[in-house]
Order: sequence, then structure tokens, then C-alpha cells
Amino acid sequence: MVVYKSAQEPIPIPNLDLYTFLFQDSKFNTSSSRDEPRVIDGVSGQTLSFNQIFDLSGRIATGWKEKVGLKNKDVVAVVAPNQYDHSVLYFSILAAGCIVTPGNPDYTEEEFHHQIHTAGAKALVTVPELLPVLTKVAARNNIPKERIFVFRGDGKTSVPSFYTLGEGSKHIGHPIQGIDTHDTAFICFSSGTTGLAKGCMLSHHNFVAQCVQVTNFDANANIGTDVLLGFLPFFHIFGLTNLVIGSFYRCIKLVIMAKYNLERFCQLVEKYKVTNTSIVPPVAVHLGKSPIVEKYDLSSLRVIGCGAAPLGKEHIDALQKRIPAAVKQGYGSTESCAGVVYQRVGVSPAGSIGYLTANTELKLIDENGNELGDDQEGEVLLRGPAIFLGYLNNPEANEKTFTKDGWLKTGDVGVYNSKIGEFFIVDRLKELIKYKGFQVAPAELERVLMGHQDVADCAVVGIYESSQATELPRAYVVLQASAQPTQATSKDIADYVAKNVVNYKRLRGGIRFVDAIPKNASGKILRREIKKWIKAEQEKE
Ligand code: AMP
Repeated sequence: MVVYKSAQEPIPIPNLDLYTFLFQDSKFNTSSSRDEPRVIDGVSGQTLSFNQIFDLSGRIATGWKEKVGLKNKDVVAVVAPNQYDHSVLYFSILAAGCIVTPGNPDYTEEEFHHQIHTAGAKALVTVPELLPVLTKVAARNNIPKERIFVFRGDGKTSVPSFYTLGEGSKHIGHPIQGIDTHDTAFICFSSGTTGLAKGCMLSHHNFVAQCVQVTNFDANANIGTDVLLGFLPFFHIFGLTNLVIGSFYRCIKLVIMAKYNLERFCQLVEKYKVTNTSIVPPVAVHLGKSPIVEKYDLSSLRVIGCGAAPLGKEHIDALQKRIPAAVKQGYGSTESCAGVVYQRVGVSPAGSIGYLTANTELKLIDENGNELGDDQEGEVLLRGPAIFLGYLNNPEANEKTFTKDGWLKTGDVGVYNSKIGEFFIVDRLKELIKYKGFQVAPAELERVLMGHQDVADCAVVGIYESSQATELPRAYVVLQASAQPTQATSKDIADYVAKNVVNYKRLRGGIRFVDAIPKNASGKILRREIKKWIKAEQEKE
């Protein structure tokens, strides 16, 4: 029976709201660095310094209060591809005492509605291209037109930029009035261990803790002189915590890409002499294989952080044959406010997730809840200051997710390898499928599938595609008696799903017709049984 504790001494977590912490407490932001570019738009080359971000966000915050009439703890939805001034907007909302719910700009109308409705957003910021769909969603959720803003106009829209809120306004000042470090700062969406996407309440304290824990973990961090290239979406916890917030705290220059594109990635590494980047496993495959990489000088890259899903040794080896950077894996989730277990560069073997950050505890349990010891595989439970507050308005999910003594049940299977002294993730108990780092909730696809006239029953699971280093969602379908199990039916069902969900949730793993879906007595899908079918199929191939 073991509770694994970090080998590092516990560290104090400042008792501050995130805005005050970032702008007042960061020892890395020395006065001489405050006018230097801190974020750089990879396309236009536009930049913002610490002082500019501070000044703009503080004045816009006053506008949120005085011009828009937002109150403390009101929620603002931000739906946009990565912008170089995302930090100005996010920080302005926090400085106004409000909460950000960051959304995926590629969603369908129903997916937008689900998030905006669940989070109870009172205002919305987006980009002009998304106004047609988001204006409809706003109306469905009683967000008045006067509370819709864009990052910047396109010469056609009359919807104002959120920058207008700062015009003529004074800086809001800090500490932020009426906000406690344990209040919610962001509501990010995750399906957790089961069901549909839910609003994860992440507190100011969670992000403050992440900043100090990660900085403390990496004694070799080249704080202040690193150049980080960021393309991971700023609505997902990995991009939000590591890129927007963490790099800002550590005074690292962030070069921003709106979307991943290998050629542009290589151009920017060469141009800005990028030292660090954060990727997901499929990008590691590209870096290891694509001829594009050979055209550029990527020798400035020192550390490539990789997370969101497992990364196989073969892909790491292929990558390192071409780029002499260290690949450092991290493990975490939306519920843990990003990584809480990290590899150590030059020490950790490929495939491990490494060591606990300070103040983080980990426990492994079997299916009966018994605590396990070294070298025994079990569900990973986590406790510490970065663990989220719970799912918004969802006591049922919270009860399943936390143990009585406050441990987060991750739904991942891990093991502590006593010979090496590091943790490994070996399997996943939860339903969740991860396509290229993005969450795909089987329950959501099953709900969509049941809306197709030919589907009598179904189950969705992930199949691992090693050449792409990702899982692909596959549907097992029981047809209505009136339907035929033909290729045409299969295509029709796949097209139907594609029309109703964002691109990355499509059934790329195919559709298989079966006579029945394995279920237990209470009707719960036995996904383990379906995984056995997949294993048998793969062994035959
Ligand atoms: P998300 O909340 O979208 O970040 O997804 C979190 C989930 O991604 C975790 O619970 C794991 O199932 C998976 N995950 C994240 N990092 C890793 C990793 N390094 N190795 C294996 N699985 C991971």
C-alpha cells in the first residue's frame, strides 16, 4: 500500500488570483525585460510586450465591468483559433473577476451550444468568420448582441472589437476585488471518464500551482532566454496552461501559430531560433518522417515536450535521428490543469511519464479500490493543488470522479516501475478516445449515431493506428431490421456522423456491423469485450 509523493520538497503556492500572480508576483519578469516582445504572431510578426499586455488587459477589464456590465464570476466564452493577443483577452476577463470558457472554433452549432449553454456564458468573443453560427448560438442562450465582440474586424462586420472596451478606460488595478484564489478562472470542456463533455472548473489556484510546480520541477529550465513555438490550441488545457499562462509566467518568448502546419513550423523554428516546443504524438511522427524537415535548420531546438497521449519509442527514435533535441513526455489532463508528471531530460527512458511534480501525490488502485504497490498496474489517482474543483453543476459526475478523501480518479492505468523509479501509463479504463490529442467522447458519437434511421444500437471505441501515433474512433452498429449491411449503408452512416460533429470526431476507424452490442445487466456497454474483438481482428491481420 503506497501513496507516492513527489521526491521534491513541498513548495508554497502563492495565495493569489492568477492575474495578480502573473503581473505582480513573477520574479522572472524583471523590469529590463518588460518592454521586450513576449508574444509574436508567427504570420504577421506583430508582437506584444509584458507592459503592453498588462496595460491593455487591465483597461479592457474595466470595460468589461463598466461598459458591458459584467459582474464577478460571470462567464465569457472565447471561441477563436490561436491569436497572438489571446493572452490580452483571457487576462482582461480574469482581471474583471470573470471566468473564461475557451471553445474549439471548429465545432458545429450544436457543439457550440452545448458548451455555451452548460457554462452559462453571459458574453462572447470570437472571429468574424464564426459570427454567422455564433450569433445564432448566442441568441439561443440569451446573450444579447451588445455582448458579442470580435478580436478584430474584417472591414465588413459591425461587431466591435473587444479592444474598444479599453478605450478611455483606466487600468482595473490589482489584487482583483472579490475574487479568491480558489474561485473558478477557466471552465474547460472534457468528458472525463464517461459521458458527454462537461465543464471542468479550474481555479486560479490550479493555474498558480501549475506555474510554480512546473518551474520548480525543471532545474534546467532556461527561463527568460528560451523561445517557445506554440500551435497547440489555446482552448485545450495543454496549450492554455503551458503556452498562454506558463510561458508568460516564466518570461519565455512565445511564437504563435494559429494552426499546425509542418512547413510553417519548420520555417518559424529556423527564423526565430526556437529552443522549445510542445507537440502531440502525431506531430512527432511528421518530424521523424517528412522530407520537409530536411529543408530547414532546426538545430536550435533543445527540448520538445510531448503530451496528451502516449508516444511510442519508435517515433521518438525516428525523430531524434533528424533533430538532436530531447523529447520530454508529460502526463496530465484537463482535470489536473495539464501535466503533473514529467520526464527528466537525459534520465527518463522512452515510454515513461517520469516523476511527480512537487506537492502532487499519486496512488494506484485495483478495481475493488484496494491500494496497490510498486510494479503493480492499477488506476491512477491524483491529489494536489493543480487538481480541478469539479464539474460544473454535475454532482453525479463529481461523485464518480472523486473519492471521499479527495483523490481524482483519472481513468488511466499506470504502474510505478521500482527498478527505474518512474511512472508509466499502460492502458486506459475510461471510455475516452483521443484523436491526435483531441478528446472524442464515445457517448456523444453514440448519441449522434442513434439519430440515424438505420441504427438500432451502437457502441464507439478507439482503435490504435501506430503509423499515425493516434487512436481512431470506430463504431460497432446493430442495424434496424429494414436496413442492409452494405458499403452504401456504411457510407451513409459515416457521412451522417461527419455532418453532425467537428472534423476530428469523424469515424476514421470505420464502421463494423454486428448482431448485438455486449452489455451488462444494467445496459452498460462492455467496451472491454469490444476491445477483445479488435485485438482478435488485429491478430488475424
Ligand atoms: P485531456 O483532458 O484532453 O488532456 O486528456 C487527458 C487524457 O489524455 C489522460 O487522462 C490520458 O488518458 C491521456 N494522456 C495524456 N497524456 C498522456 C501520456 N503522456 N501518456 C498516455 N496518455 C496520456
